[in-house]
Amino acid sequence: MPALTRVTESDEATWAIGAAIGTLLPVGAVVLLHGDLGAGKTMLTQGIASGLGITEPIQSPTFTLVSEHQVSSPDDRSVRLYHLDLYRLDGEEDLASIGWETYLAPDDGVSVIEWPERAGDWLPDEYLLITLDHVGTDQRRLTIAAVPTYGAMARMLESLGEMMDSGR
Ligand code: ADP
Ligand code: MG
Repeated sequence: MPALTRVTESDEATWAIGAAIGTLLPVGAVVLLHGDLGAGKTMLTQGIASGLGITEPIQSPTFTLVSEHQVSSPDDRSVRLYHLDLYRLDGEEDLASIGWETYLAPDDGVSVIEWPERAGDWLPDEYLLITLDHVGTDQRRLTIAAVPTYGAMARMLESLGEMMDSGR
């Protein structure tokens, strides 16, 4: 499917889209968040965390590059959220030193990455790409696309579209 686009009118609405995404993300998924400062990347990540079942607060890990959150759900499936913010990244040496490649293919959770453009071309083969644009003070346009346009992320995007259309 082509990209999904939604304009949200509040941070709660952006959070809710994140939560829907979080319920659908398979283990191993990578989500890249493009958008300026204040676009709502961290707000969206908080929703994703909630959708994964993580209740602890999520802040932008701006000074650490990576923060890790874990949930043990009742069915004992433990899922981790690797939340990366590359805003202060200083080149590919930094990427290697944080073990970047492990976050490109997380085997026990999902990775959500703010400022992925700082990593240049060093990206996973498959990811969900979400672009957040300022439309107004409280309005943000979210454009959600699967890369490539077939495969697990594309199927997840189909499900997300159906979920949103049915108002769930
Ligand atoms: P980023 O991580 O992209 O720098 P944050 O998520 O930290 O952005 O901050 C987004 C800011 O914009 C928050 O203060 C939030 O309350 C505000 N905001 C206003 N309207 C929206 C909206 N529709 N979606 C997301 N955030 C919004
Ligand atoms: Mg942020």
